[in-house]
Amino acid sequence: MQFPAQERFADGAQFIAGRLARGSSGRTHAVVDPATGDDVHTYALAGTDDVDAAVAAARAAFPGWAGATPAERSEALHRFSAVLADRAEDLARAESLQCGKPLKLSREFDVPGTVDNTAFFAGAARHLQGQSAGEYSGDHTSYVRREAIGVIGSIAPWNYPLQMAAWKILPAIAAGNTVVLKPAELTPLTSLLFAEAATAAGIPDGVVNIVTGTGREAGEHLVGHPDVAMTSFTGSTAVGRRVAEVATATVKRLHLELGGKAPFVVFDDADLDAAVNGAVAGALINTGQDCTAATRAYVQRAVYEEFVARTAALMETVRLGDPFAPTTDLGPLISHVQRDRVAAFVDRARGYARVVTGGEAPGGDLAKGAYYRPTLIADAPQDSEIVQSEIFGPVLVVLPFDTDDEGIRLANDTPYGLAASAWTRDVYRAGRATRDIKAGCVWINDHVPIISEMPHGGFKQSGFGKDMSAYSFEEYTQIKHVMFDNTAVVRKDWHRTIFGDR
Ligand code: NAD
Repeated sequence: MQFPAQERFADGAQFIAGRLARGSSGRTHAVVDPATGDDVHTYALAGTDDVDAAVAAARAAFPGWAGATPAERSEALHRFSAVLADRAEDLARAESLQCGKPLKLSREFDVPGTVDNTAFFAGAARHLQGQSAGEYSGDHTSYVRREAIGVIGSIAPWNYPLQMAAWKILPAIAAGNTVVLKPAELTPLTSLLFAEAATAAGIPDGVVNIVTGTGREAGEHLVGHPDVAMTSFTGSTAVGRRVAEVATATVKRLHLELGGKAPFVVFDDADLDAAVNGAVAGALINTGQDCTAATRAYVQRAVYEEFVARTAALMETVRLGDPFAPTTDLGPLISHVQRDRVAAFVDRARGYARVVTGGEAPGGDLAKGAYYRPTLIADAPQDSEIVQSEIFGPVLVVLPFDTDDEGIRLANDTPYGLAASAWTRDVYRAGRATRDIKAGCVWINDHVPIISEMPHGGFKQSGFGKDMSAYSFEEYTQIKHVMFDNTAVVRKDWHRTIFGDR
């Protein structure tokens, strides 16, 4: 059985102050199953009044939640993790239905990752770190308080809706903030299930709120809202720029997790079997709709042709199909619009590069879904669109290089810097690659794995700020210096700079 979205969200697709509600924008949006094109659930979109109500609920909940002890917040998050684990199958089915992800991916990656993230932040809630208190001036004791910031306005994309909701909400609430999250309007279902699970775990009403509306209306209103203290955004670099502009008016603290165009650098001593398997998995994860997906393989000349032939052959074995079928490796893209966008990139590339395999939508039973075949493109110039732009589909471009320095230079030659990998058995090459590649994550001999304990976030135009890990926990706190005079002296030594002599 698929997920019964109509029934579960009959009361609406907004979650404000602990309950579902209908949006008041006067407009509706359909969640569509991209595997079939069928309408899964049509709901009323949030308007600005709903954003105001959610922010008011979050503001009202803030003093109580920020005032809870770290142990109390930690216990609530442990219960939250347990409720999510109990509801794992529901979450996986809803995620696969709205995104078209193979059920095995939702079950084995998205949902367990979210449960683990929740458990991680339950622990982190009790471990705020900082500089030690001390008499740094000699006459005073100084210490640092790390405090919750207030209401956090978060905006998430459609590619990993559940994990993105988790990455935004968990560190924020672990630190004592309250949150209003706007998921992408295409994929609200698992964000709503996540918020319901928070309430079921006893997290107070108003700590986690979801407003499901468009970016222009609900998103910009949330970013510009005077009662929102910080904006945390994950999405494209283009929209991130707009979010930064809107946030400037109220001088908001910003966290931007933006686009990527991850390089995959294969040196001539690499284990080629491992590199070929890694390239296909790294490029096709989530049908290529992954900000860290391998998109540009740079392969040293001696092994280039062999890599191209073997990668194409392996890509051709990947099975497209119904996301709910156990034999399916690759689902559709998120929508027909996204599929057509990817196809247009590939069609334009035919003029200047070689399409080695793929490059078309499948026919037959899959024709009505937003499917696109795994695609390998060789011999594109470094400055071409297909090498430089984020495609967000199952497309890998392969280019040759000669010297190690050239491989690293080409890897760094895009405006993005989110993630990268290098493939070699030479420890010195690996060391140089990790030092010289400008990206927030560099894998050696793998591509894609993430873990709750380690930070995820970009360099360059991939944004700033970190998700997951203790680093993201810190992002959702603000630092206050407290200074106590220890002398009780009325006229202090430094006062002579204002009046009198020593
Ligand atoms: P998008 O930028 O189109 O939309 C992201 C979110 O922003 C959606 O909720 C959307 O409704 C909202 N939005 C749109 N216009 C807005 C506006 N003017 N003001 C406020 N909010 C607005 O991105 P997408 O197509 O949903 O997702 C794909 C993009 O996300 C890719 O670029 C991908 O690389 C990026 N991404 C990055 C990371 C990361 O960690 N760096 C993770 C996942 C996805």
